[in-house]
Amino acid sequence: MAKRTCDGCDRRVPVGGGAETLWTTGEAPGGLSLTLADGSDHFLCFDCVERLPEDRNATAADVAAL
Ligand SMILES: [Zn+2]
Repeated sequence: MAKRTCDGCDRRVPVGGGAETLWTTGEAPGGLSLTLADGSDHFLCFDCVERLPEDRNATAADVAAL
């Protein structure tokens, strides 16, 4: 299984397929790809996804702060 580095915590997490597959399904075993409110693309593990703010749209600055 392929692995990708989480943009939030720098952990290597397993992913189910190529980036395009992630885009289509929106989910993977260890994390997922997100396009944030500012248009930036990030790969995050589920732990980091849960730590993003829920009361507003997350931006790259929120990912950098994880
Ligand atoms: Zn992470």
